[in-house]
Amino acid sequence: MIESAGMHLDRANFVWEYATDENRRLVVVSNRVAVEGPKPDSGGLAFAIRAALESSGGIWFGWSGRVADHAASEPETIAKGPLTWATLDLSQRDFDEYYLGFANRVLWPLFHLRAGLVDYSRRDFAGYLRVNRMFARALTPMLRPQDLVWVHDYHLIPLGRELRRLDQGQQLGFFLHTPFPPAEVWRVLPNHRDLAEALCAYNLIGFQTESDLHGFCDYLLRWAGAEDLGHGVLRAFGRIVRADVFPVGIDVSTLAAQAEAADGSRHMRRLRQSLGDRTMMIGVDRLDYSKGLPARFAAFGRLLEAYPETRGRVTFLQIAPTSRSEVPEYQEIRRILAASAGDINGRYGEFDWTPLRYINKSFNHHILTGFFRAARLGVVTPLRDGMNLVAKEYVACQPEADPGVLVLSCFAGAARELGEAVVVNPHDIEGMAEGIRQGLTMSRGERKERWTAMMATIARNDITRWRQRFIAALANSGAGQ
Ligand code: UDP
Repeated sequence: MIESAGMHLDRANFVWEYATDENRRLVVVSNRVAVEGPKPDSGGLAFAIRAALESSGGIWFGWSGRVADHAASEPETIAKGPLTWATLDLSQRDFDEYYLGFANRVLWPLFHLRAGLVDYSRRDFAGYLRVNRMFARALTPMLRPQDLVWVHDYHLIPLGRELRRLDQGQQLGFFLHTPFPPAEVWRVLPNHRDLAEALCAYNLIGFQTESDLHGFCDYLLRWAGAEDLGHGVLRAFGRIVRADVFPVGIDVSTLAAQAEAADGSRHMRRLRQSLGDRTMMIGVDRLDYSKGLPARFAAFGRLLEAYPETRGRVTFLQIAPTSRSEVPEYQEIRRILAASAGDINGRYGEFDWTPLRYINKSFNHHILTGFFRAARLGVVTPLRDGMNLVAKEYVACQPEADPGVLVLSCFAGAARELGEAVVVNPHDIEGMAEGIRQGLTMSRGERKERWTAMMATIARNDITRWRQRFIAALANSGAGQ
């Protein structure tokens, strides 16, 4: 067995296992905070964070989601049992520069390999740093020396360094939910060195996949003079930092139970009635250019064109709630998809069959689980995605006796774990159409075989194991150097 301080290699799963932590207080920081939530039917991640906070007691700190006349310097707090929610409002200027500007028009496209969409300005970068500093100042009085601080996602990269500047010596962990780009793409960012240094203020940095981890380590080693100390530990910018892979999971058993329970619901009756005896395929994505929706629509059009027997037999339900609609690129993709959906339905539709049901509203999680279960195909074809929880959720919701098929992009983080899906390249429209057809015509035996393997994987690395592994790794990482 390979071992290192507080950790050993789990050979069956090729991941580092960390000694369990001794229940220290946890402080979670994320851009958005689900105050007093999440509701029982909400997505898994907020649920996992809440479960972690409830088991050790703690604080969930972040933006309230509100834009106020003035940014507040003191957080609004709500305490319930062992858990405190602490939130700050943002000013319009903070929202524009930190959230819409640097986080969502620079880091988001860059991390999703869309350097051409990066719209950088020094003003937005200054706003990004300013809001992170404000968060650190507001959080510091709430912190105790023994706390474990877990910071989430690309909005908050500089937060750890700001806490260090305020003399906070806690163990600080950062988890990146998005991909991390290859070193050459990271260097597109004018402040690449500064933000890489900021990342090294954390004791532990978690990534979704090996290639994200590799992009980060490669950058540090080749461009920042870092030294590889082995077992995922690097010395960079005068600090010691551990980096590892923690693929985010889902709450498999709850989702499976929800999907089964949804079967008899009113929504499901309406859906079945509307479908008749047609086969349904489903896509569920925020309306985001990283999700590959135009190519997916084109692949569906191609399927109908190349395989006429599918006409009138297959209905594609694409749920795509709008997001970040203040950002011009998101308005543009919405226009493109509306035109494409209209084109497909105009070309192939019949008076009693709408091939593509394209919907911009969001659905509660428990309703989605029923829809997933009713769909013979789950189509998840992002151009790039950190993990893509929908891929795992679709698998978890399938009926054991007659499971559906997951058609999955090779560029979703989930593809690293779900190799038994029909894996497609989202840039290859004909290939995707063939993948969809392969799924539609796959025998029940093969469907069951593939599904059983995927289900075993997602059950092994579920949401609880994910957060426990991260927290144990954080507790084992060196205290603030
Ligand atoms: N989701 C939802 N209702 C919707 C659309 C999506 O509850 O109408 C959930 C979905 O089930 C999943 C999450 O939102 O849990 C999306 O996560 P994912 O990793 O797939 O993509 P992201 O939006 O984080 O890029």
